[in-house]
Amino acid sequence: MPELSCQDLIRFLDDYVDMTQSDKVRVAFDGHLKNCPNCVAYLKTYRDTISLARGACAEDAAAPPPDDIPEELIQIILKSRPSD
Ligand SMILES: [Zn+2]
Repeated sequence: MPELSCQDLIRFLDDYVDMTQSDKVRVAFDGHLKNCPNCVAYLKTYRDTISLARGACAEDAAAPPPDDIPEELIQIILKSRPSD
């Protein structure tokens, strides 16, 4: 496999992060990352973004808004709104 360029790395980043790529691609990625701090930084940012996004989704799924919100709380929320 020829050496990856930064563009190649970015193009296959999804697969790399999801570990759906072949071993050959993974080895090429790791080889590139060893020599390219820019891509290491990019990958880190990319992963952070994904985990943030997934965390937000997981939170939504795990904690749907309760449908038994106390009346007091509703009043507090309504009162705290700027009146127009
Ligand atoms: Zn690179």
